[in-house]
Amino acid sequence: MTYRIPFNKPFLTGHELGYIGRALASGHIAGDGAYTRQCEAFFQGGLGVPRALLTNSCTSALEIAAILAGIGPGDEVIVPSFTFVSTANAFYLRGAKPVFADIRPDTLNLDERLLPGLITGHTRAIAPVHYAGVGCEMDAILALAGRHGLTVIEDAAQAVDATYKGRPLGTLGQFGAYSFHETKNLTCGEGGVLLVNDPAYAERAEIIREKGTNRSQFFRGQVDKYTWTDLGSSYVMADVLAAFLWAQLEKMAEITERRRRVHGCYSRYLRPLAERGLLRLPYAPEYCRHNYHMFYILLGTLEARTRLIQYLKAKGIQTTFHYVPLHTSKVGEQLGYRAGMLPVSETLGDTLLRLPFYAELAEAEIIEVCREIHGFFGVDFREA
Ligand SMILES: *Cc1c(COP(=O)(O)O)cnc(C)c1O
Repeated sequence: MTYRIPFNKPFLTGHELGYIGRALASGHIAGDGAYTRQCEAFFQGGLGVPRALLTNSCTSALEIAAILAGIGPGDEVIVPSFTFVSTANAFYLRGAKPVFADIRPDTLNLDERLLPGLITGHTRAIAPVHYAGVGCEMDAILALAGRHGLTVIEDAAQAVDATYKGRPLGTLGQFGAYSFHETKNLTCGEGGVLLVNDPAYAERAEIIREKGTNRSQFFRGQVDKYTWTDLGSSYVMADVLAAFLWAQLEKMAEITERRRRVHGCYSRYLRPLAERGLLRLPYAPEYCRHNYHMFYILLGTLEARTRLIQYLKAKGIQTTFHYVPLHTSKVGEQLGYRAGMLPVSETLGDTLLRLPFYAELAEAEIIEVCREIHGFFGVDFREA
């Protein structure tokens, strides 16, 4: 069915086609052309990281990070259960065991207080996920990782243009990864970037990304032929998509600002329901500047959420739940997990509802969504 107010609409700045046209005219549409260099320089300069590598997805960036971190069979990597499958799969692909951690009830991020109890002699890495672009408790996570010699790989898929205590998310661990999937704040359809925050890994990262070859060095004239030198796969973003991405990156501040407005409207119009205890609104600590990636509400029960989804659907409004906690998935069960083991992830997985959210969502539409949610609860709606 088509919805009057859909859940997501990718935002276009208007320059995408023009830049794609220039990439086509240049004759260089495969990876590592002029737009790729421009996008990578944007992240390296803007974030102050030694190397940023565009990839064809955030999933690919996480896979490269897993190889760089030396993850292999017999290793354990701690990941939140409440996340997208790629956070765990990147390590599972290497033969490692994902160890699922429960989440904090306030931010829905990996609960750092549980980490000491999950570390064993096999633990090699921690992969915090900054849910909704709100930073995890990185000081505690980094300190713990430092004490145990663990690699920190930030799944910052949702966290472009967000900070933790003034530092950009994705730049705090050894590696970070952003996503430019259609559903993210900035997009090129499908795409990602690997942030290599430790320069010691930069050269190997290039090689793994280029099918295990030293092609990047060859193109820079550093070697006179290119050859197979390491593990690798096809992780490069086509320059024609980097052109698309550039049209978004140059408007990053404007896009974040538009989303801030949407987030603010929802908060304002739903606060009366939160004050009556009918639902819970998203929370971000004051030292986390988030990027307004999504707006979710937490209902009392799974049954209430199911009814609200149906109620809004009947009004032409598309809402959606989020992750099935990975420990309750088929693979999670094969790894020995059972429902009941990570209660916060399970409860929030059952009761979280994401509302329509995109840069061009008009205030009148937000008011309509909020008015209907009030109607669902039988509460009079008042415009603030
Ligand atoms: C979107 C997302 C991914 C995957 O990003 P792709 O670019 O689609 O590979 C991974 N992790 C999280 C937390 C995400 O939200």
